[in-house]
Amino acid sequence: MRFASTRNPSLQVDFREAVLTGLAPDGGLYHPIEQPDLRSLFLGLNPEAPFVDTAAVVIERLFGDSFGADTDSVVRRAFPFSPALVPLGDQIDILELFHGPSCAFKDFGASFLASAMEAFLAGTGDRAVILTATSGDTGSAVAQAFHNRPNIEVVLLYPSGRVSRLQEQQLTTVGDNVTALEVAGSFDDCQRLVKEAFVDSELRSSVRLTSANSINLGRLLPQALYYIYAFALLRARMISEFYFCVPSGNFGNLTAGILAWSWGLPVSGFIAATNVNDVVPDYLRTGTYSPRASIQTVANAMDVGDPSNFERMLAIFDADHAALSTLVSGVVATDDQIRATMRQVYEDKGLFIDPHTAAGVFGAQSFLAEEGAGDATIVTLATAHPAKFVEVVEEACGATPPLPEALAAALQRQKHSVPIAAESTAFKQYLLKHYGSHD
Ligand SMILES: *Cc1c(COP(=O)(O)O)cnc(C)c1O
Repeated sequence: MRFASTRNPSLQVDFREAVLTGLAPDGGLYHPIEQPDLRSLFLGLNPEAPFVDTAAVVIERLFGDSFGADTDSVVRRAFPFSPALVPLGDQIDILELFHGPSCAFKDFGASFLASAMEAFLAGTGDRAVILTATSGDTGSAVAQAFHNRPNIEVVLLYPSGRVSRLQEQQLTTVGDNVTALEVAGSFDDCQRLVKEAFVDSELRSSVRLTSANSINLGRLLPQALYYIYAFALLRARMISEFYFCVPSGNFGNLTAGILAWSWGLPVSGFIAATNVNDVVPDYLRTGTYSPRASIQTVANAMDVGDPSNFERMLAIFDADHAALSTLVSGVVATDDQIRATMRQVYEDKGLFIDPHTAAGVFGAQSFLAEEGAGDATIVTLATAHPAKFVEVVEEACGATPPLPEALAAALQRQKHSVPIAAESTAFKQYLLKHYGSHD
């Protein structure tokens, strides 16, 4: 596979270069030039196979040429954990993506990216500095995935006071090669600082910057794997008509699903479920994209006012609004609707779901009620473990979700963060001082 910048089709790179640089030098996102046809591979998947085996088959086909003989070990190092498909009833299934080390779906992308980078950097003598803006969950997944990987430094930027205590503990207690910068600003500010650093030529010439945000293809593409895995499981249950409902913020997760569709996955459509940060549902309805400042909600990992992967979604469809809005429907959930859904699922099914997943379940229910999806199954992606958002879940359900071991341990450790202003000059100075080369 070859990739080009969304802003300039002649800026082309291979997978290795796309992974190691993150963003294209013109500020665009790398995007596959051609979509492979994997339909027959999908139809031939063994539904009994563990996730990692299915992942290995697909990655071999997509990137076997980049990793060569290492392909299988890159995949096995990345995925010691798996998704689980759990029927919720009423035509809704939950694809649980929170069984990795940080208890959120971002573990899939981050862990594959770390594994891929380790393979690409091995023996080169190069050191990469990974910049990641996080509204909470990205940072903890990246911190866990890259902790103590050789030749890699990690700098996380998170909005001060806008992540939960547990998220903050997960971000700020890893240490070693992982540094957490506590930014006096919003997530959009963090994201802007990272984007500005990437296009700063002075910085780029003295620090090998790369990104682990969902703008990095090495994180984005492996997220397609669990859509493919879910398809194999559904097919074994004789379910031929299904949709994916994706709780969305920066739209990396949904974009990965759309890529799987473009490679031949026979999905009927997607539901983009957002909180009140609804610029994409708005675009799907009206054809006009109006980015705006983000609004704080109870599903804070989706508080994004200008999603960076929107550019990629448009690129897949050559900016054809009619085609995109035929495949993808938008549903918006208010905080009250998110809380009511958490409560309803807990009372009806005895199951705790986190606020982001609740936005998805709300989206699936609304879609079934309004669009008349026949007897199709809606697979809703469960993006985080409910214990990650314990305050919100507790308030909505009147009961406390059990805390997984990994999260309990993070709460016990000492916080270390570096406070920084939301200004690119301050950020640049920090990077040059700590990671600048002397040659
Ligand atoms: C990041 C995140 C999302 C949004 O995913 P995108 O790929 O940014 O759209 C949803 N839920 C949770 C729990 C997240 O951490």
